[in-house]
Amino acid sequence: MTIDKSEYLIKRHNKVYEVVIGLEVHAQVTSNSKLFSSSSTKFGAEPNTQVSLVDAAFPGMLPVINEFCVKQAIKTGIGLRAQINKRSVFDRKNYFYADLPQGYQISQFKYPIVGEGTVILDMQDGQKEVGIERLHLEQDAGKSIHDMDPQNTLVDLNRSGVALMEIVSKPDLRTPNEVSVYIKKLRSIMRYLGTCDGNMQEGSLRADVNVSVRLKDTKKLGTRCEIKNVNSIKFMQMAIDYEANRQVDLIEEGKSIDQETRLFDTKKNETRSMRSKEDAHDYRYFPDPDLLPLEVNDEFINELKLTIPELPDDKKKRFIEEFKLTPYEATILVSDIETSKYFEEVIAKMGKNQDIKLAVNWITGELFAVLNNKNLEISQSPISAKNLAKLVNLIKNGTISGKIGKTIFELMMDGDKDPQIIVEEKGLKQESDPKALEALIDKIINENQEKAIEYKNGKEKLFGFFVGQAMKISGGKANPQLINEILKKKL
Ligand code: ADP
Ligand code: MG
Repeated sequence: MTIDKSEYLIKRHNKVYEVVIGLEVHAQVTSNSKLFSSSSTKFGAEPNTQVSLVDAAFPGMLPVINEFCVKQAIKTGIGLRAQINKRSVFDRKNYFYADLPQGYQISQFKYPIVGEGTVILDMQDGQKEVGIERLHLEQDAGKSIHDMDPQNTLVDLNRSGVALMEIVSKPDLRTPNEVSVYIKKLRSIMRYLGTCDGNMQEGSLRADVNVSVRLKDTKKLGTRCEIKNVNSIKFMQMAIDYEANRQVDLIEEGKSIDQETRLFDTKKNETRSMRSKEDAHDYRYFPDPDLLPLEVNDEFINELKLTIPELPDDKKKRFIEEFKLTPYEATILVSDIETSKYFEEVIAKMGKNQDIKLAVNWITGELFAVLNNKNLEISQSPISAKNLAKLVNLIKNGTISGKIGKTIFELMMDGDKDPQIIVEEKGLKQESDPKALEALIDKIINENQEKAIEYKNGKEKLFGFFVGQAMKISGGKANPQLINEILKKKL
């Protein structure tokens, strides 16, 4: 498998195939109540406890559009730099399934609320634009549970009627890695906006993955297969890799690809045919007679624009200009809104004479490692931005060495301790008094006369030995820069 390569091509018998991918992402709208009813959307409730008569499709019940969900969709559209459509229409998408009591899903077909837009991907070798085809609002179905009762399938309607945004990309993605970056970017934008929490474990973000292959440098798109409802980035990547290779093998055998809907089997790590691909007309879409077309005016849209926070692309640009970060550092620090807040708080708390590079290194190095290890979000960081700023300043102004900084960092994790207090309590202040250091070095040279002579005779490697001794005897507190200078002078 060649999943993380930036150039992802499939080679067979001197032929080179390119993979084309388009995603239909289903993002659950962050909202306390459902799209057409006032039932709660809270995750993890007992089955069938959050179901109104509308969600259960009792006869005669009428849907009422939730204005908050409409605002969320428009805000997301703005975040995707997309066309906001002032008039959109809800349609019925008709199909039968036990977890769909209405017998149809209310969705938007011809006239979605959001039209074309763009998402920018920050790749290692520069930026890539991915086109957004549309974003529409629709309801989620209930959930069929097949593995709790050996005889029966159980149905939980808590999800029934929950608002989803379906975000359809153009077939602009070319590699599993781009897919990963794309999903993360979408999620980041929606988290900044507060329109979808992006929690894939809870099913708030899932995608139908469309895959086709074609000979490299040809224009015409190949026939696509659609892999339904994949709920992790890793599975998306594995599914694409399997599916693209399957399609190339078929073509190489002289067979053709059937346009079909497939399923990714996470245990066998392969895609399997579910059904031949349905066409829109199979669903008998028609405008829902219970709902008026949805109309919004400029004023409504402009008011929402005022609520849009600084989004990752703008923040990245500002971080590069204002803090002289590299694009790479800026990308990491803006990828998650909480991380960017933490970083900015550290900068603010460092005050004048700040060493931003050093702060970046501590955040993306030590702090990220700890969060990763303990599986914590940055909002749960055991070390506050304020105290990390203090630690960086202590290193910057020479009170402690970077090495001692690491020791102190460990100690800070116990109850977010103030590093200044740790330095005082443990006597960890860096020794920068030249007289004291000279005395220390004189002693070391005296005790290691032979080595000193060897060094003078050209065994330069021994320099490190003397530095090591000085650090060891001083308990790591000797100022390494001064030690170097003094040693050079004395040896
Ligand atoms: P449907 O509902 O029939 O799947 P949509 O228009 O909602 O149709 O979604 C089509 C998705 O498939 C889009 O994300 C689009 O980018 C992608 N797509 C279309 N043609 C191809 C192709 N030849 N190869 C890969 N992806 C494709
Ligand atoms: Mg589809």
